[in-house]
Amino acid sequence: ELEAVDISAWFGKHKVLQRVSLTMSAGSVTALIGPSGCGKSTFLRILNRMHELVPSAALAGEVLLDGVDIYEPGGRITETRRRIGMVFQKPNPFPAMSIADNVTAGLKLTGSKVSRNDRMDLVEQCLTKAGLWKEVRDRLKQPGGALSGGQQQRLCIARSLAVRPDVLLMDEPCSALDPTSTRRIEETIAELRHEVTIVIVTHNMQQAARVSQHCAFFLAEAGTPGLIVEAGPTEMMFNDPVDPRTADYVNGRF
Ligand code: ATP
Ligand code: MG
Repeated sequence: ELEAVDISAWFGKHKVLQRVSLTMSAGSVTALIGPSGCGKSTFLRILNRMHELVPSAALAGEVLLDGVDIYEPGGRITETRRRIGMVFQKPNPFPAMSIADNVTAGLKLTGSKVSRNDRMDLVEQCLTKAGLWKEVRDRLKQPGGALSGGQQQRLCIARSLAVRPDVLLMDEPCSALDPTSTRRIEETIAELRHEVTIVIVTHNMQQAARVSQHCAFFLAEAGTPGLIVEAGPTEMMFNDPVDPRTADYVNGRF
């Protein structure tokens, strides 16, 4: 379980998030929705300590992973980023590196050692979980850059899974993909949610309704920082939201 408690965030003097609290439960997919610029990507980057890579960035609040604050002084950043993986809007495999090596690329960063045999088992296991194994089993030595966009995105998912994360953060993972690839990724998400806590940012309301069990609606109204207007079960957010702004947004009246 991942819990954000009272998160506020700044870039320089510009406050972009205002007291955001959200619990992202294990075994379920949480969708973050809301208009452009309301702070969804910033919030995701706060969840795996990427926010602090921006020199002007500041932060208040806590992020608890299974009850432990990932920002606690002395906390291990590399271990936090291993446990909380991220998949981006634009697939970013290492283009010249083989498909198999792409899958295990993260192991070097985290310092894990695996034997040659175990490595090939891991490659197969992760590519299977990412729904890509059948398509690439005969071309594992080809470069990652030789795959289609949708295949590259599934390769990136396989790469994030190889380090055995507890949480997978996905920032508009399908927005650069065609409908067929999008469907494949959605199927992958549905299968993965039983073993990884998934948080996905999407502008596609049908997608949010299809893949998530919980949903949070972010909004930054005229000149104010982004905040969560409403969060709850996806079913409720779409069919019986409490706040009229949620109803307007999910029905495309924004
Ligand atoms: P979108 O749906 O368009 O991706 P978003 O909800 O993900 O939008 P963010 O990217 O989190 O929004 O941006 C939130 C606010 O923070 C915006 O006002 C943006 O300009 C600002 N911001 C984001 N990154 C930086 C940065 N590196 N430096 C300064 N300001 C930034
Ligand atoms: Mg964004």
